Amino acid sequence: MSTQAFADESSGDGSSLAALKRFVPAGRGFWRDVPDSDWNDWHWQLKNRITTLDQLQRLMPTLTPEEYAGTQLANHKLALAITPYFFNLIDPADEHCPIRWQVIPRLEETHTASWEMTDPCGEDSHSPVPGLVHRYPDRVLFLVTDRCAAYCRYCTRSRLVSNASGYDFHPRFEDQIDYIRRHPEVRDVLLSGGDPLLFSDERLDLLLGRLRAIPHVEFLRIGTRIPVFLPQRITPELCAMLRKHHPLFISIHSNHPRELTTEVRAALERLADAGIPLGNQSVLLRHVNDDAEVMKAQVQKLLMCRVRPYYIYQCDLIAGSAHLRTSVRKGLEIMQALRGHTTGYAVPTYVIDAPGGGGKVPVSPEYVLSRNADRVVIRNYEGKIFEYPEAVDGTPLFAAPTEIEEPELV
Ligand code: SF4
Repeated sequence: MSTQAFADESSGDGSSLAALKRFVPAGRGFWRDVPDSDWNDWHWQLKNRITTLDQLQRLMPTLTPEEYAGTQLANHKLALAITPYFFNLIDPADEHCPIRWQVIPRLEETHTASWEMTDPCGEDSHSPVPGLVHRYPDRVLFLVTDRCAAYCRYCTRSRLVSNASGYDFHPRFEDQIDYIRRHPEVRDVLLSGGDPLLFSDERLDLLLGRLRAIPHVEFLRIGTRIPVFLPQRITPELCAMLRKHHPLFISIHSNHPRELTTEVRAALERLADAGIPLGNQSVLLRHVNDDAEVMKAQVQKLLMCRVRPYYIYQCDLIAGSAHLRTSVRKGLEIMQALRGHTTGYAVPTYVIDAPGGGGKVPVSPEYVLSRNADRVVIRNYEGKIFEYPEAVDGTPLFAAPTEIEEPELV
């Protein structure tokens, strides 16, 4: 990516939304001499990831003392790994680069507050067999691997991904599949990890086929950050294999419009052309996307990539993530700036995963100001107030109510 593109994004004038929404290639950066056949090969990208302090320092002499110290300690908590492709999105001249904060370890990761947890969503306590989380009535989370193409410093599953902290994750596919077979209420299986798209086409095909063969499994999903970290992995062969397993949905994970490059757009197009409905999950992160204009650019750009913004997550109370968390107040402000101000399809649901395993709870700015048996008082996106009349039993009215009760404040 050119330094001009970084400069345009931060110009702060009225054109910054347009600048954020521009699709630009990540470029070749330090790897300009690598042949195209290597650069476009996902195995080459994985083999050449930045995983050590030495490599990082050589490529980015502008490391701050916090980043230097954090990287020295990273392999005891959550490993460092960044694909060359994704590394090129980092602006080395900008300490506040939103990409940098997501993947470069920092010293603050070693500070743990008393309310932070290693398993903030209570997955382990809802795990009937290793690698399977049964938290909601009709669906399960099927963890396939502890490996990712790159590691996000705020990962809610950092206890197990990369195996840096000795969790020793060993999914047992036979037991996981057998559990689903024995539970006819499970109609939806979400494959996640780690990243399922790191599996070879053959291995993933086999796993999806076995799940698809269970009669009560209606619907399969894959949660992945590969299209963003490693768009080279989204090959025509992968897409051809995936399309055999419909209905199959994919949720990608992208947090900032700069991640949506021309390479990512092309990869998402290949998935969409294979008939796979695409959604995006963003995590609300301080220094990254806690800004209404950045989020507006993000959701609008996602639609241009044929991806429906699905969730914005309040960052979980994962140990060592305080420096990346932002307030719920800020999240509500962002939702307020989206709803009504842009296409409804572009507006995701803002959720807090209730700490300790309560599941996802939607949170929204207040649009219902009061309600009682006779009427609902609502506010629109411009702040204008309206009343909607209804009868005691909730059916629409044919005549004005004889008595108006005082509204109950919501
Ligand atoms: S890609 Fe997903 S599972 Fe992997 S480190 Fe990032 S958030 Fe965690």
